[in-house]
Amino acid sequence: PLKLLLLYLSTDNGLVESLQSCPATNPSMLNVHLVPHTHDDVGWLKTVDQYYYGDRNNIQHAGVQYILDSVIDQLQKDPARRFIYVETAFFYRWWRQQSQSTQKIVAQLVNEGRLEFINGGWCMSDEATTHYSAVIDQMTLGLRFFLIFYICSNMSLLIGLFDILSCRLERAMGVAQHHDAVSGTEKQHVAYDYARRLATGWAHCEVLVRNSLAVLSGSEAPRVFCENLNISVCPLTESSHKFSMNVYNPLGRTVSWPVRLPVNGSVYNVTDANGRAVDSQVGNVFISLKGYAKGELVFQVEAPPLGYSTYIISMLRDEPPASSAKPTATRSIQNKVHGAAHESRQTSGAYIFRPNSSDPFVINKTAETQIVTVSSTAQEVTQRFSPWVSQVVRLYEGHRELELEWTVGPVPVADGLGKEVITRLDTDIKSSDYFYTDSNGREVLERRKDYRPTWELKQTEPVAGNYYPINSRAYIKDDKHQLTVVTDRSQGASSIYNGSLEIMLHRRLLYDDFRGVGEPLSEPGEFSDGLVARGRLLLTLSPPDTAADVHRPLAQGMVLQPLLSFQDGTPSANTKLEFSGLQTSLPPAVHLLTLSQWDKDTVLIRLEHQYQAKESKTHSQPVTVNLQKLFSTLEVLGASEMSLGANQWKEDMNRLQWNTEKTSKPLPLSDKDPSPWEVTLNPMEIRTLLLRVRQL
Ligand SMILES: [Zn+2]
Repeated sequence: PLKLLLLYLSTDNGLVESLQSCPATNPSMLNVHLVPHTHDDVGWLKTVDQYYYGDRNNIQHAGVQYILDSVIDQLQKDPARRFIYVETAFFYRWWRQQSQSTQKIVAQLVNEGRLEFINGGWCMSDEATTHYSAVIDQMTLGLRFFLIFYICSNMSLLIGLFDILSCRLERAMGVAQHHDAVSGTEKQHVAYDYARRLATGWAHCEVLVRNSLAVLSGSEAPRVFCENLNISVCPLTESSHKFSMNVYNPLGRTVSWPVRLPVNGSVYNVTDANGRAVDSQVGNVFISLKGYAKGELVFQVEAPPLGYSTYIISMLRDEPPASSAKPTATRSIQNKVHGAAHESRQTSGAYIFRPNSSDPFVINKTAETQIVTVSSTAQEVTQRFSPWVSQVVRLYEGHRELELEWTVGPVPVADGLGKEVITRLDTDIKSSDYFYTDSNGREVLERRKDYRPTWELKQTEPVAGNYYPINSRAYIKDDKHQLTVVTDRSQGASSIYNGSLEIMLHRRLLYDDFRGVGEPLSEPGEFSDGLVARGRLLLTLSPPDTAADVHRPLAQGMVLQPLLSFQDGTPSANTKLEFSGLQTSLPPAVHLLTLSQWDKDTVLIRLEHQYQAKESKTHSQPVTVNLQKLFSTLEVLGASEMSLGANQWKEDMNRLQWNTEKTSKPLPLSDKDPSPWEVTLNPMEIRTLLLRVRQL
């Protein structure tokens, strides 16, 4: 957890309205308001449930329901008392258990300004490890509860309405953004609870997706989702002689995506939605973590904007694929590891990264290498650095990026040393101590080794003091070249040497770091011998002035990857094999950040300009979208703009004006929209709109 106290000085302008319910001030004195607020972790040392009910008090003495019970009681006893509550995930639970009379008292306390909610999100989301889209979603979820709270005169209706409007996966995702969840600073049993919540949420959501696809395609045939494709496991594709694959694309533009399916035949015929043959090859499964597939069928798919396309796959030869070529040695890539030994000083743990050496230990200077596939679809080089570190390097036809699929673990600890495994990319780029990291997957910040822009730094941590969180990308550049790495998860990254970029892949540590979690960071994994992690890095090399044109769409594509689902057999003749919810692709600078059913006749949409100012010659310009020419199945009857959290009409928004010493320029306003149906976006601008729609 993080202890927070918000403090502000009262001024004679602004703030006044919200301070009306504050204790009276003395105008002849400097009045200081201390605003304490709750910090009820939605999971940390205990699970969300254990915290709420006050279970397992031997771990930590905490029961959130009793906090709220006693607060309401004490507020009633003394009108001078105030309370500020933060975590909507807990308040929502508590609210639904209250009697109507308590609900009335609570509503009255809120109206009097004595019970106040701040932040308003489902949780207090983490700052460093969250993706901005998930932060916006969890804020919207929490604020929506209060929006309904505000407009709903019948309090018992509130919960029913909210339950209908929010789904279980949204609430699980909301909890997962908590600063001890996605950040990894919770106890292991709590991490399992988060995983369980996400799995249950997805199981409910899967039904919704399955039903939607059945309606859109007109096919009621059973549909399966293979969630273990990353470890080459999918019973249907491994056993079936003929099946179809639906590729759903949540992005507002057509995507091209390489697909790898675990199979046991050696030759397959793949056709697209128009019956055209698609190039495909069967390669070896390099490292299957479990499962029975002998090979992987590789081909490239395309899916239309906000829609799906269907591919039909038939086995032509029912025999296992031939085994791959003999291993060869190469020195092309090295993987390294930071060691973390136990000493009397600060150790690495869930909170702290503190390696015991500034130079990483090389796992292996030469990798056992196999060239597995060279085909018209993909070229692959597999490298095994040790029994627990390997990677596959892939180049796909027509793609500009190089893919590194890394597999690390179980990290051995028999030598008594915890280990933090990095991959380091060494180049001859003259980066001169500068490197760049993203902030929550959105804007990019300049970093300089052993330097802080706002104070003089005495660097005492040569490695950890230069590590930064990345959520989607990091890069180094000089005048001619930029090397950008796009990641599939939040990781740590740095540039310790000129021309090099390093990314942390996995950590397994043997000691607690004394920040409260009370456990070493040593996830047991499926077989209790240490967790195996697998992920992907996409590398692009481009001139700096065109680099964003590549990494912006690449990173959005990584976050919103196509969703694959499978049906056994041949689709019936009247199955609709392709669908797009948009009339046409969005302009390249525009990202469809949100599209969700708000109520019966309205949808919430967020349109985002995904380029920063001056980042791209072509795309860092204002761009206009016509709302009436957006959807293929919805007619837009009306549009109203809202605040980012969708809890306020934009015209009602009132930004606080701060008195500052320097008069800083206000943020540039949007270019005026050409018409009520057209929305103009400036670089990095997000606009939130509630659209009144009719089904076509
Ligand atoms: Zn906390």
